[in-house]
Amino acid sequence: MYKAPRGMSDILPSEQPLWRYIEEKAASICHLYGYHLLSTPVVEDAGLFTHAVADGTDIVDKEMYTFRDRGGQELALRPEGTAPVCRAYLEHGLFNLPQPVKLYYIGASFRYERPQAGRYRQHHQFGFEAIGDADPLLDAETIEMAQRFLFSLGLRGFTIHLNSIGCKTCRPRYIAALKQYYSRFERHLCQDCRNRLQRNPLRLLDCKKSHCQEIAESAPKITAFLCDDCRTHFEQLQEYLNALNTPFSLNYRLVRGLDYYTRTVFEIQPQEETSQGALGGGGRYDNLIETLGGKSIPAVGFAAGIERLIANLHEQRVNISPPPHTFVFIAYLGAEAKGEALKLSSLLREQGIATTASTGDKSLKSQLKQANAHGSNYTIILGQEEMKTHTAQLRNMKSGEQSVIPLMQAAAILREIQGSQSN
Ligand code: AMP
Repeated sequence: MYKAPRGMSDILPSEQPLWRYIEEKAASICHLYGYHLLSTPVVEDAGLFTHAVADGTDIVDKEMYTFRDRGGQELALRPEGTAPVCRAYLEHGLFNLPQPVKLYYIGASFRYERPQAGRYRQHHQFGFEAIGDADPLLDAETIEMAQRFLFSLGLRGFTIHLNSIGCKTCRPRYIAALKQYYSRFERHLCQDCRNRLQRNPLRLLDCKKSHCQEIAESAPKITAFLCDDCRTHFEQLQEYLNALNTPFSLNYRLVRGLDYYTRTVFEIQPQEETSQGALGGGGRYDNLIETLGGKSIPAVGFAAGIERLIANLHEQRVNISPPPHTFVFIAYLGAEAKGEALKLSSLLREQGIATTASTGDKSLKSQLKQANAHGSNYTIILGQEEMKTHTAQLRNMKSGEQSVIPLMQAAAILREIQGSQSN
């Protein structure tokens, strides 16, 4: 028996209403803030990510799904959404539009991680990116929008962690100080952190191992190393967030897993800080477009993990209305009635009435059971007697009431009932 690949899941019909709910809330928040949908391929040139996310990050070094296609090109399943958006921005000359260009996406991302609660090999992200402006006002708007999106879903009690990780000018000095500090503890670090010390020292700060966390407690703080421009940017961002009444918590150890960030980084942690991890995160990436071959164009964005949103909606018992059921079920007995059932179901659907017709040669009892399982409001019963008199039995599945109606008028009667119920 085949199974879905490890760490990847089917989304069953019963779970779909939550997905539609989140997608609708995402689309409506994007409309409110002037973002437009961009869809990119699930696979990209692998170089896009090694370039953008950078070697030395877990995503590129350990987690990317790469393969050669039959033409020998090295492709990767998209591990994140920002680099493809920037690629599309450059490829389609969107820098010629009035800036900033505001784009959003919803789609699957793939990371070869160790599957556990809240961490999958295929997960889905809703993200939005504002490209073409360095104003901290845009960072504040991005963070407010992320917060408002979570509120609109009905989530409460989350915390926005905020930090600035500086720029090309000031970060090297900080990294040198960090390396110097950590080299004193090298023997005590976990193996991953020893590698980070060589390849990606910033990530030392967010190691989850308790011993490494203790060492991180006393590490130098980046804020002491920010250049004047970065410091001003960070201060203005905080002022704007205060003006927007968007609460945040400064977290000097927040660095994020992707290398392209500059200045602002933020992450939203759920009410219960379980092993599930962050609901979403984002930040500014002023060098990414240039790294990908464009001009120096600043940008800022955010992405939320849909599976984690769903887990939190379940935890916080947010109620979502169930999807509409089939309105009518058509049961029949005998070959002639079967033909009429087929024609009637087609007519009802043509008129916009959700209909499920029975199949095969079942007893009336089992057909009514099936109608109940479908959650249908009404069942039309066509039997041999009804065929003789050109009638149908109309059964209200809730009350059990049953009446005889002319077959010719079945569609009109059901349309009227449906109309009166939806008013
Ligand atoms: P990132 O691109 O790492 O900033 O991820 C953005 C968001 O996607 C995270 O905050 C999570 O909510 C979600 N996410 C990232 N990786 C995974 C994963 N492996 N499984 C489920 N959700 C994830």
